[in-house]
Amino acid sequence: MGFEFKKMESTENKNQKDFNLDADIEKIKCLIIGSGPAGYTAAIYASRANLSPVIYQGLEPGGQLTTTTEVDNFPGYPEGVTGPVMMEDLKAQAERFGADSRWGIVSSVDLSKRPFKVVVDSKKQIEAESIIISTGATAKYLGLDSEEKYKGAGVSACATCDGFFYKGKNVAVVGGGDTAAEEATYLAGLCKQVYLIIRKNYMRASKAMVERVEKTENITVLYEHTTKEITGSNVVEGATLDYKGEEVKIEIDGFFVAIGHTPQSGLFKEWINIDNEGYIQTISGTSKTNIEGVFAAGDVIDKDYKQAITAAGSGCKAAIDTEKFLAEQK
Ligand code: NDP
Repeated sequence: MGFEFKKMESTENKNQKDFNLDADIEKIKCLIIGSGPAGYTAAIYASRANLSPVIYQGLEPGGQLTTTTEVDNFPGYPEGVTGPVMMEDLKAQAERFGADSRWGIVSSVDLSKRPFKVVVDSKKQIEAESIIISTGATAKYLGLDSEEKYKGAGVSACATCDGFFYKGKNVAVVGGGDTAAEEATYLAGLCKQVYLIIRKNYMRASKAMVERVEKTENITVLYEHTTKEITGSNVVEGATLDYKGEEVKIEIDGFFVAIGHTPQSGLFKEWINIDNEGYIQTISGTSKTNIEGVFAAGDVIDKDYKQAITAAGSGCKAAIDTEKFLAEQK
């Protein structure tokens, strides 16, 4: 027996394939999509509430934190912890109470009625009584051909992951927000020279971060500069910038992009209310979406805070909301 799926923009072809599948359908009480701090915290609460949650880990098991090094601001770790270790801890804690954590990528969903129909890896079919969306966000890039060319060869979107490779070298960071400011100061501690490329004549980052950047001697802030091209032979060796129509060349070994994130909401946009930046909209003060029984948590709903602890908190809310919802159905 196959599911009938509505047409979805990004997964249209996959959905067509999924439609023709004939497979056993697994019934799940509480399905959690995405495995960052929000997903695993939801899994901890849902498993303790006997909801037998199943968590599909997605493309990046453990979420964005697995690409960071030290996490010093998550309560309960006085000496700090690395991102990957923290995510293993959260996973182990969820599994201790019976959460079923699985490899797999949700390829399509049909939220038109309950139970919700979900297909994993274009083959496994699920009927879920409730869903918690905790799919997170991914880093944005500038969209230059040269940026694509040097990804993994000098272009990165994570200073804490890759900064170590540029010890004693010159690097550039693009962006004027808190992430760029943080990455620039982090890199300044490792590198000889950091160029911070900002397209406006001011930084959007918080006052404290701007001050920190400006006080750091080996950071050169290049206001009103944009990147035309990243240059090099096989690896990054420089960049050509534009300053009010004038060409500016810098010599660098690493090029870090820190211009924000894109929420991973595309799979749900046919059913779920999403704002113009792609964030899932929840009913104020709750994790409830416009579809009863579908809840959302973490960076996919959060355009402001984007912290592991805020994601974890919203995952907790989503599990509690799910528990109440399922209890009301009985
Ligand atoms: P932001 O959206 O705040 O900033 C993005 C920056 O990138 C802006 O300066 C923007 O420029 C610039 N930008 C965007 N697109 C381009 C482009 N194509 N070319 C050049 N520049 C571009 O993202 P962040 O990731 O910095 O921060 C997201 C949120 O997370 C914020 O609310 C921030 O405060 C928070 N955060 C908090 C931290 C903390 O508290 N420790 C740490 C990191 C983030 P423009 O200003 O011109 O639009």
